[in-house]
Order: sequence, then structure tokens, then C-alpha cells
Amino acid sequence: MAAMYQVITPQKPAAILKGVGPKMAEKLSSIGIETVNDVLFHLPSNYENLSIMNLADAENNDRVTVMGTVMTEPAVAYFRGGKNRLTVFMEIDGIYVKVTFFNQPYLKDKLIVGEEVRLSGKYLRHKLEINGQRLIYEAGGGYRVTYPMGKVMHSKTFNKIVAEVFGGFSFNYDIPETVRDKYRLLSMREALRRIHFPKSPADIKEGRRTIKFYELFMFQLRLMERRQKERVRNERYIIDYDIDELKAFIDTLPFGLTGDQKKCTNEICRDLKQNVSMHRLLQGDVGSGKTIVAGIAAYAVKTIGEQTAVMVPTEVLANQHYQSFTDTFEDRLTIAKLTGTTTRKEKMEISSRLESGEIDLIVGTHALIEDDVLFNRLSLIITDEQHRFGVNQRKRLNDKAHRKNVLYMTATPIPRTLSITTFGDMDVSIIREMPEGRKPVETYWRRYDEVDEVMASIESEVRSGHSAYIVAPLIEESETLDLKNVQEIYHLFLDYFGEEQVELVHGRMKPAEKNEGMGRFERLEKPVLVSTTVIEVGINVPNATYMVIFNAERFGLSTLHQLRGRVGRSDMQSYCALISDPKTENAKQRIDIMTSTTDGFELSEQDLEMRGPGDYFGVRQSGLPEFKVADLAEDYRILEHARLSAIELSGEMRKET
Ligand code: ADP
Ligand code: MG
Repeated sequence: MAAMYQVITPQKPAAILKGVGPKMAEKLSSIGIETVNDVLFHLPSNYENLSIMNLADAENNDRVTVMGTVMTEPAVAYFRGGKNRLTVFMEIDGIYVKVTFFNQPYLKDKLIVGEEVRLSGKYLRHKLEINGQRLIYEAGGGYRVTYPMGKVMHSKTFNKIVAEVFGGFSFNYDIPETVRDKYRLLSMREALRRIHFPKSPADIKEGRRTIKFYELFMFQLRLMERRQKERVRNERYIIDYDIDELKAFIDTLPFGLTGDQKKCTNEICRDLKQNVSMHRLLQGDVGSGKTIVAGIAAYAVKTIGEQTAVMVPTEVLANQHYQSFTDTFEDRLTIAKLTGTTTRKEKMEISSRLESGEIDLIVGTHALIEDDVLFNRLSLIITDEQHRFGVNQRKRLNDKAHRKNVLYMTATPIPRTLSITTFGDMDVSIIREMPEGRKPVETYWRRYDEVDEVMASIESEVRSGHSAYIVAPLIEESETLDLKNVQEIYHLFLDYFGEEQVELVHGRMKPAEKNEGMGRFERLEKPVLVSTTVIEVGINVPNATYMVIFNAERFGLSTLHQLRGRVGRSDMQSYCALISDPKTENAKQRIDIMTSTTDGFELSEQDLEMRGPGDYFGVRQSGLPEFKVADLAEDYRILEHARLSAIELSGEMRKET
């Protein structure tokens, strides 16, 4: 398959181009340009339109190229450090404008009262000023193209070298013609020509559109290749589960599955039954009911006498999953739990029961990957919030598999663009639909001086037997005055509700202490839980109807959404109060978004827009490639088309979610 950024093959060194001698080749090499293809894909960073426009049509801050008459003698003012500014008044398209040039005192001789000159610069419309860039002597219109060249050579010189490539070589890679026709794309040669030698704004736009598509298309092709490698086909991957037994089990559930749950269950079961190793991501907002879907898969595996491991990032989450699996399966499955706090004796006992095959389903933390934990026939590995585990940790567990089937679950709604890119080599199942009867969490924003009002409404919830989460962001004494720390907030609630109603849990506590506190809240012995974000993942108290988040501006959208997902887990109306005095525009925007939607996918799209894709999982983990023209956050539509085209091309016509 063709490599990215190679449209002329075989590769040739830039030095063979006319006008590129050894000296020049060395200079080019110093900015990473080694080959003829490198020259072609070293794209302009800026364009200056030399065609004259009418100043009256320009907006504030526009870069303009205009023609006007010099009205006054230019005056040059000198400042400290040798800097200077030239000021001249001009009449341009009937507008009397003050034009300034920084550090170009020699222009004084070129600006003669009564004469016409052409110039480019930035128009400050409301001040009737132009920050002059330069005087223009080139004849005619067209574009002046600037390349990122460091101090290596003039853009003009480089542009000539580019022209040599067009003169001397034929291009031998293109996006397939059917795809080009469908999306009205240019040939690579034409697209690059327009980008390097534009004659109109449309040239630049169309050229760039084709190059964007090219980048995303090549990228998707590479992902497809990787995916085909992952989806190993082998008879031994067939898990011929007992469908009748599975159906009988689903019938025992106290609720009917939602449409999306059914769809995802089918997708997973199809993977199990096929001769491929499963490599699937199950995505669904908090509370959308992923656990039961995973449970059904585990049950399918058990019907052929094999085992499932569920690995989760925290002890709290392990406890919760263990509880919910035992509640769901009762004695249909033999379930065990293994975490960092499991005693040695217990661990040895669990290990031997795993090895003998007595245990069908094990829920655990990192403890599961340790070498002395052995399985009889581990055939399904489910990882929750997989991005919290390192690649090696996942691999160590996967290596224990008898048949490698991997299901990743995440409640972090991943914007479609990112799931395509980051998880492009996985199959994706999505639960969008919430279980019936769920009411969206009513979310509102209050300032600190309105906390009393929030207290009163929490009190009325508590009085009707419901519980409330209070989240504070910090444990230490806060540095800034307005930042409420968890102790302070704890006392605020103690004063209001009294000790027998309020529980405190924070990240600095010992795990045992934390679990006790959490337990009292979960068993509804105490209705108000003040905590740091340790409760972010996992805890499930359907009785809770109130979430209060202090210093809400300190949290990112996805954290806020995760926190809010702790309430609204029953058919009771729930509430979320964001307490904040936001200082920045960005913080205000995040709070506005939170109060306007409860849809995790919509939130994640907005989050992506605000933060950019690199920040989404942290740059390191995202593994996102850098493109020259394409922008993953902006060009997601092109990405989708490029993906479809790549799938068609690589002959993978399997149905995509
Ligand atoms: P997730 O893991 O996606 O955050 P859970 O699997 O913990 O969500 O489900 C949240 C709650 O919803 C659980 O109490 C679960 O029993 C319940 N639930 C799951 N599916 C349904 C359904 N189809 N109808 C009603 N309740 C459901
Ligand atoms: Mg869950």
C-alpha cells in the first residue's frame, strides 16, 4: 500500500531537482526536506492576496491589499532599542486612513505626497488605521505564498523549487478514481498545484479539501490494515454457546432490554459465535446498562463451561460490579472478587478455584494480572474504562486467555471522530438509549452566595428519604480564598444536617476507612455524602437524587458529566447543582453546556471542540497522528467519508455502527 505523503515513486532525493545544489540540499535537509515528495508536501503557511480590494468592503482586523493616495509627509518616530514607527495619512477608496509601518523607516522615501501606492496590512476598521505590512511593487494580482522556512531560504526561492517538481516528474499515486468522482476531489497533482500556485481563494480551498481527504483516507487505510491483523480468524475462536439457555436467562431479568442493549448483545454474541477473536468496544453513557450486556456475554461463555474476567480500575468499582453481578446471576454463575485488599489466604483459595474452573466469572482490579492468578479456560476478558490501564497491563491479562475475546467498556462517551481514530481498529457497539423511565437530571448553576437555596432543596429531598452527593475538588487547605475545600464543605453540611446525616469520604483516607464511609452511604444509613472526586467512577446508589458540585469550574466537561451520572439512576426526578463563580469565558461556557444538555455524546462533541482532540485522553494516550492540513475536530465529516471509502477499498464491507 502507498505510504502517506508519497505521490512520486520511487523516492528521489531533493538534490536531483534543477536549482538544488549540494549547499541548497543541505539547507533543505536542515528543515526536514530530503526527498522530492518532501518538497511537494512542504505546504504554504500563509497566503497574501495581491489583488486589490475596496477598503470599504473590509471587516475589522482583515488582512487587506489596497491602493491609495499619500496625503501627508511620512513621519518617523524612534524608540528605545532602535525601534521606530512610520506614520502617514492616506486616502484609500474615499476613506481617510492613518497608516503605520513598524521598523521600515526607509519607506519614508517611497511615500510621496500626491502619489498612489499599493500596500498590504491589517485594517483596524473602528480606528480607521492600517497596520502596514509592506508596500507592493509586484505587477498584477495573484498570491504571494509564504512557507515555514525558518531562516533557511526565501519562500520565493522555495516556490521555484516546487515548480521544478511539477515540471520534471509525473505523479503516480492518486486517491482511487471512483472515490474522487464521488466526492468531487482533484487529482493529487492538481490539488498540490493549486495549493502551491493559487490564482483564487477557491483554488486554495479546493486544493486543501482534497489534501485533507487524502490524509484522512490514507490514515484510515492504515487503521484497516491493523484491524485485519487484530481480527484473527481461527476455528478455535468459535464459542458455540447454548442459545436456549442464554435466552432463558435473559427472560429472568427483572426488566426488558432496551433496543440498543439488544443490538449490542447481538453484536457481541455474533462475535463469540464467529471464527474471529472479538476485539470490541462497548460504549454507553453512565447508567445506560452496559453491565447487563457484559453479563449476558459472560453467561454465554459459561454455557460452554468457560470463564470470564472483568477488570476494573478501582476497588470501589470492583465492589460495585461484584455486587451487581451477584444480584443479577444469583446462583446461576459462580462469581468471585479479587482486589488489592483480598487477603493472601483468600487469594490462594480463589486462584485454585479459578484454575479448577469452578469460578465462572471473576471481577477484579490489577490484582488479576499477577502471575500467580491462573485460569482454567479464560475465554472472555472484559475491561472497564480501559484507557485507565496501560497497554502492558491489558496485554498481561490477555496473555492468560484460552481463547482471546476482548470486550472493552467505557462510560466516557467518545466523540465519533475519536472513536473512529483512536479505536479505529476495534469494532464498536454503542448504547445511546437510556432504560425506560429515566428522567434527565435537572441541572442548574448557582453562585456561592446562593448556596443556602441549594441547601434547602437538598433538605427537602433528604426529608423525602432520598440521598445526596456533595463533591468538593480539593483536600488540602486551599490557596485561593474562594476555593472551598472538602473539610470546609463538610462542616458546612454538618452544621446544617447534623452528624447522624452526613458522611465524609476523601482521597487521603485509607481504603478501609473509605469503604466503611461509602458503605454507610450505600446502605442509606447516612443520606448526605461529602467527598472529593473519589466517587467519580462506579458507585451506584439509585436512591440518590441530588448531586452538588462545588467549584464546578475546576472540572472538565467529561468529569462533570461522570459525576452527574451518579444521580438519575432510578425513575425519581434528580437534580444537579453546579456551584461556581466562573472567572473565565471557557469555564462559563462549560457550565452553560452542562445546564443545557444531559446527552453524553453531545457533551463529548462539544468538549472535543473546546479542547481539541489531543487533549481528549491526554496527548500520549490518544496516539492521534498529526496531519498537515486535516484537523480531526473540524474535519470529522471528511473523516467519515474517508473512512467509508477506505472500508470499501479494503473490501471490508461488514456493517459498521
Ligand atoms: P452502566 O454500567 O452503563 O453505567 P449499569 O449497567 O450500571 O449502567 O445500569 C444502571 C442501572 O440500570 C442498573 O441498576 C441496572 O440494573 C439498570 N438497568 C440496566 N438495563 C436496564 C433496562 N433495560 N431497564 C431498566 N433498568 C435497567
Ligand atoms: Mg457500570
